Amino acid sequence: MQTAAASIVQVALHAPSHSGVGDLLSYASPGPLPPGTLVRVPFGAREVLGVVWDADEATGELPEGATMRPIAGVLAGVAPLDAPWRRLVGFAARYYQRALGEVALAALPPQLRDLDPEQLARRLRRPAAPAGGTGQDMPAVALTPEQESARAQIAAEKGPFVLFGSTGSGKTEVYLRCVQEALDADPAAQALVMVPEINLTPQLEERFVRRFGPQAVVSLHSGMTNPQRLKSWLAAHSGTARIVLGTRMAVFASLPGLRLVVVDEEHDPSYKQQEGARYSARDLAIWRGREQGAKVLLGSATPSLESWHASRPPTAEDPEGGRYLRLHMPSRIGAGQLPRVRRVDMNQQPRRAVFTAPLLAAITERVQRGEQCMVLLNRRGYAPVLHCADCGWKSNCPHCSAHQVFHKTDRTLRCHHCGYTVRVPRHCPTCGSPDIQSMGRGTEQLEEQLAGLLSEVLRPDGAPARIARIDADTTKAKGALETQLAQVHAGEVDVLVGTQMIAKGHDFRRITLVAAVQPDGALFSSDFRSAERLFALLMQAGGRAGRDAAYMAAQGGAPCEMWVQTYHPQHAVFEALRRHDYPAFAAQQLAERQEAGMPPFAYQALVRADARTQEVAQAFLTAASAAAREQDLPGLAHVTLYPPVPLTIQRVANVERAQMLLESGSRAALQRFLAAWQPVLHAARGDPAHRGLVRWLVDVDPLAI
Ligand code: ADP
Ligand code: ZN
Ligand code: ZN
Repeated sequence: MQTAAASIVQVALHAPSHSGVGDLLSYASPGPLPPGTLVRVPFGAREVLGVVWDADEATGELPEGATMRPIAGVLAGVAPLDAPWRRLVGFAARYYQRALGEVALAALPPQLRDLDPEQLARRLRRPAAPAGGTGQDMPAVALTPEQESARAQIAAEKGPFVLFGSTGSGKTEVYLRCVQEALDADPAAQALVMVPEINLTPQLEERFVRRFGPQAVVSLHSGMTNPQRLKSWLAAHSGTARIVLGTRMAVFASLPGLRLVVVDEEHDPSYKQQEGARYSARDLAIWRGREQGAKVLLGSATPSLESWHASRPPTAEDPEGGRYLRLHMPSRIGAGQLPRVRRVDMNQQPRRAVFTAPLLAAITERVQRGEQCMVLLNRRGYAPVLHCADCGWKSNCPHCSAHQVFHKTDRTLRCHHCGYTVRVPRHCPTCGSPDIQSMGRGTEQLEEQLAGLLSEVLRPDGAPARIARIDADTTKAKGALETQLAQVHAGEVDVLVGTQMIAKGHDFRRITLVAAVQPDGALFSSDFRSAERLFALLMQAGGRAGRDAAYMAAQGGAPCEMWVQTYHPQHAVFEALRRHDYPAFAAQQLAERQEAGMPPFAYQALVRADARTQEVAQAFLTAASAAAREQDLPGLAHVTLYPPVPLTIQRVANVERAQMLLESGSRAALQRFLAAWQPVLHAARGDPAHRGLVRWLVDVDPLAI
């Protein structure tokens, strides 16, 4: 029977970018459907998930001659996604220059896409999980005066807030208290708490579950199985979960009652998504909070210079101050001290020393007293490269402009960019010489060397010192990191070697010495943010030492220490580190940035092109910028387009990469220009002159230049 469609609905769906389909497609529906309704619709030969979108945002058009297809079904068991969620997705798509449907669908749990309505209905009928205790097992502690002052200001003011608190100053306790107050104020209220790394979610979850009970809390991150993610997502969407803990992806969770967003370690680059829509979850959190009437709290001991600048207090010359409110918690809980910083001038040390004598002596002493040490090196593997002493051969990756890293444990050479792995050759592949040597060092080698150097060192119980390593290689298996961290917490490890993975967030109780053995590389990187990053990393790493004031007092020994082995002991980064003086460091960096016209005093975007050859990649970018000038696109007058350049690692997996930097003093002008440029880039992609182009992409507010 033929029935005329009663309604036309606009549906956001994930159309492949080459399909030429606009953001929204029109479908026929037997009756009107409210925006936000989840539907299944035919698309090509397939049936896909879509979200009914607000008609006034429609930009898609029916391809000529096509008839309107009817929607296939409605996911009736799931309430429509609300207007604030749709506005967030719409904003993110516009701001980060992606298709609306792509962002909308990527924000939904994968199983929602894959399950048919029958399966989903069954899933929804399933009773809620066997729930444990009633929560509130862990009574709220009495806040310190600094914590109380922060709490009171957050309660009284609108924000957004930058909670600038030393490592161990009790920021998490402030989050807990603010969440408590938000939830108490309104039975439908929800809170979102984000951390930069999946690794940090279990300990946070534990703290929140102890305070609020297991039903109230769900997690959302990519380390979960798809059924778990669906379950958490539905709990947040329906309001049964009051608190969502998660990584950057959680910023897109459907949270109809959202009243508070916490972004912990807000400076962490992991908040920036590095593929698809390259969004900053921190920046979206600010936007979302304002739109949805939720308070936003950014916490860090070393805020990003963007947030620091945005939270500058008013002064005589700058009576407005920044848009955010800065709250300060300088003291450690329980009158604990921040580590004393010891710099070892490597110019005065024997060449090629990895562990200098004074550092080794300090570690030995700590171990003999039963204390723990942490040794940081931001490079995994045994050595970054192998070379032949006879002919100069190096273990270059055949597919990338990078070395293959030597991993001794399994005797492989591995490319950390494309994953290409081979067995370590016995002889030089070029000249046959057996004299193959490693150059430089990674965490595996540190672990091995320490084991040798400390082999005679005994703990107070007479047992030999135990060394453990935590990095991406030792934690590949599910649950491995938790197990390893538990060993550290249980005191089964005396010296922990690792990458930045161990520097972040963990509340270690018995670490009293932290050492950065080779931090200098980051001082001379071409990335203008590298000093900021290094400072944050070292402050955070140092923050793992001496966290338990009671333990420190009971040990009665030396104060906790942060050791830095460097050829540049006078460098501003280490000077500021020594004084724990983030404000001075930030002031100096901001002055440089202002002078040079760099973020946060300017706004940037990158356009990247990947192609078979570097020439094609650069030619595409050159042509696109020439077209922008010819057409005198809106905003162009306020935007500087720099010439295309190869990326630092120019070739990865046999693809050549080039990028072009765009800069503007006006965010609005840059946005206007990018929006107008988007169709030009699309058109250039189809031009036969650019055959060999693999893809192009735009990165707004890029973090790595
Ligand atoms: P941060 O997040 O700032 O590094 P945490 O919130 O993890 O610091 O707090 C450091 C330690 O101090 C934790 O073990 C925490 O339980 C404890 N702590 C925090 N606030 C208080 C308080 N008001 N009284 C007693 N202990 C506290
Ligand atoms: Zn050779
Ligand atoms: Zn490679």
